[in-house]
This record gives sequence, C-alpha cells and structure tokens, in this order.
Amino acid sequence: MLPNVLNKVKSLNSPRGHEIAVWEYLAGEENAWLFLLGRFHGDEPEGEYLIRRLMEELRAGTAGEILYNLLLVPCLNPDGKELNTRENANKIDLNRNYPTANFSPESVNPHSGKASAGKPGSEIETQLMMALTALYEPARILSIHSDLHLVDYDGPAHDWAAEIAKLTGYKLVENVGYPCTGSFGTWAGVERQIPLVTLETPGARSDEDLARIWEEVRPALLATLSGKI
Ligand SMILES: [Zn+2]
Repeated sequence: MLPNVLNKVKSLNSPRGHEIAVWEYLAGEENAWLFLLGRFHGDEPEGEYLIRRLMEELRAGTAGEILYNLLLVPCLNPDGKELNTRENANKIDLNRNYPTANFSPESVNPHSGKASAGKPGSEIETQLMMALTALYEPARILSIHSDLHLVDYDGPAHDWAAEIAKLTGYKLVENVGYPCTGSFGTWAGVERQIPLVTLETPGARSDEDLARIWEEVRPALLATLSGKI
C-alpha cells in the first residue's frame, strides 16, 4: 500500500443495507494507530462532518505532519443516520452495547431517555469496532459525539484530554455525569487501558454551526495527529 494515501479498507453493510466504511491513512509501517470515530449515535452529525473535513485535508495534503497511522470510521451508525435516531435500526444504543463488567440491558440518560442496550456485543456495529480494536491495537482513540460541549476521557488519557480541552475551549470533565454502562469508552479505555477521548461538540443546527465547530476542533485534531499533544 502506498503511504500517505487514504484507502477504504473495509466496508460492512448495516442491517438496512447502508455501507459502514472504514478508512486507513498510513503514515509509516511502524507507526502507532490512532482511531477516529464518528456517529455512534445516528442523530449526531457533527462527528461524521469533522472526520470528513479531516479526510479532505488528508487528501489535499494540508493536515501538516502526521505521526500516527489513522483508522477512520466517519459514520458507525448509518441506519440511525437514515432514521434520525440515536439508536441503530434494532433500536439499540450502540454506545451501551459493549460487553463490559458494568453492562446493563437498559440505558438511561437525561438527554434521550431510556433505550435498549441489547445483549452484550449483539450489534454488528459493535462487533466491527471490537474486531478493529483487536486487529489494529490502537495506541489512542478519539470518539466524537455531540452535543454536550465538553471533553471526557476513559483510561490513561487525562493529559491528552486536557490539551484537547485547552485547544477547543471545551470543558474537561472526568465523566459526563450519568452512568454510561456498556460504553465503548469503558470497554476500550477503562477495561483495555487504551487512552480514549470522547469529544462532545456543541450541537450544530446549521451548516454554519458545523463549519464553526470544525474551526474550533481542527487545531486539537491536527495537534493530536502530529503527536504534539
Ligand atoms: Zn453520542
């Protein structure tokens, strides 16, 4: 594979037949992997937008120095995107579906109310992320959600999260303030000790909002990619 090129390396069909695309950007054979993940929740367009803007810069060569090999999943939940739901087509919250010690079959959060978490690891979107994590053994994971307007982290990621908070101006928190049972952060960050930052952007209500959020987040993204933070 040629270095410094974005390649689609895998795609899976969602239950409703949409593509879940996985992209690689190879900085070097020996470089550690960084995962960039968007749209666990179908009604949160911000993460997908930011990753696609970053992909444009990777293609254009304007993203500066890149230390990590990147694995990018702009939209993990295309069915929820189509249906404009937080959950996937099976009405399961994909960020509560991981087989963690704290798994609970029902997720409750103050923003979206109750949702099913399914059975531990039951969803193909979850199985995809578990398989990718086992295969690539990422050194870091950045998962982008909205719209809490904060930076949260799991596992040994405090310093990285603090730098992202500083560069974005978003608030750094130890947790989002309600239990996130069976979350990807718990599964990968807490239980596998992979430094994981969850970036919660503000909610975008327009294209202008999305463009503004990109300007807010871009410096932190590029600093992460270059290994400066
Ligand atoms: Zn979310």
